Amino acid sequence: MTVAVDTDLALELRGVTKQYPGTDTAAVSGVDLKIGRGEFVTFLGPSGSGKTTTLNMIAGFISPTAGEIVMHGQDIADLPPHERNLGMVFQNYALFPHMSVWDNVAFPLVERKYPKDQVRERVRAALEMVNLTGFEKRRPRELSGGQQQRVALTRALVFDPPILLMDEPLSALDKKLRQRLQLEIKRVHREVGITFLFVTHDQEEAMALSDRVVVFDQGRIEQVGTPDELYRRPATRFVAEFLGDSNLIEGKLVTQEGVPALETPDCRIPLPGLLGGGGNPSGEEQCVMFRPEDVKVVPGDDEEAACRGRVREVVYLGSEQRVIVTTESGRDVTVRTAGDLTATPAVGDTVGLRFSASNAWLIPKSG
Ligand code: ADP
Repeated sequence: MTVAVDTDLALELRGVTKQYPGTDTAAVSGVDLKIGRGEFVTFLGPSGSGKTTTLNMIAGFISPTAGEIVMHGQDIADLPPHERNLGMVFQNYALFPHMSVWDNVAFPLVERKYPKDQVRERVRAALEMVNLTGFEKRRPRELSGGQQQRVALTRALVFDPPILLMDEPLSALDKKLRQRLQLEIKRVHREVGITFLFVTHDQEEAMALSDRVVVFDQGRIEQVGTPDELYRRPATRFVAEFLGDSNLIEGKLVTQEGVPALETPDCRIPLPGLLGGGGNPSGEEQCVMFRPEDVKVVPGDDEEAACRGRVREVVYLGSEQRVIVTTESGRDVTVRTAGDLTATPAVGDTVGLRFSASNAWLIPKSG
């Protein structure tokens, strides 16, 4: 089927659904998504949430049970993988073990019958881009995991695919190397300018790499947004809890002297401006999110403390500390404090908590 071509779009998913044979629930259900040209988009979600199934439908390794996958105005749901001409990088490198680095990278070009001089020039330039000049004659087993993954990245990009798909490409590597390769992938994305679609279950990785993140849960998209939007304004409780630490505080929204406040059995948190100046709350149950950096530990006798509690745990994290305070009703509140170690309370201290109203965020009821 041919549809109007939107030249700013690299890819569109419309109602994409996959139910594997012999299962009673869909692995992916009604996914709608538009991905712009040149965007770096990451599918993020817990294991089993449908990320790989969605990526594999885009790659053409499995076909959707329903829905359309549109590239260049064309529904490609029935095209075999090689006709989609997409680059792929997998977790396990998938290099040809008996071939040299040079031959691995040249393979997609030879397969596509590029002239010899073009193959030579492209492979040379591609290896230079990922700092692998000098490694041309080695076999994959003579390279470190990080180098192998850079070869895989180069092989996936050397034929100029319009989209590069990456499925957990860094999960087999240790943390330091993963962070180095994240920077490298970001740089390569800037240099080649094509659309990157990346799958990970690691929220820090998703936030570090992406222009936009698609959060999956149970085969559905929970939210799509920039890392900052997802962190500051999560649409659901799931997103609030999956991305970073969060304090979700449930209580009644009341008005006190014209100012909205969240009231719980042991807390009263003033929230001026929370409702954009509108509304006049009178006791509705609500859930408000505060990130740990938006809560402050103050002395137990601080008159403006919203509530009091006892320090349960202090975790030293180098430049900052994570302090967990249990309030009088038994609720744990996580606070992140930067700098000044001498001001850090000790386990067992009675302290007060202040919440920064300007960053408070109402979690919608359905979340
Ligand atoms: P993720 O990539 O987010 O970990 P997957 O897309 O791999 O999730 O899996 C989504 C769901 O589909 C899971 O419940 C998984 O068990 C199921 N699933 C994946 N592959 C198959 C398969 N070949 N046959 C049956 N069920 C599958």
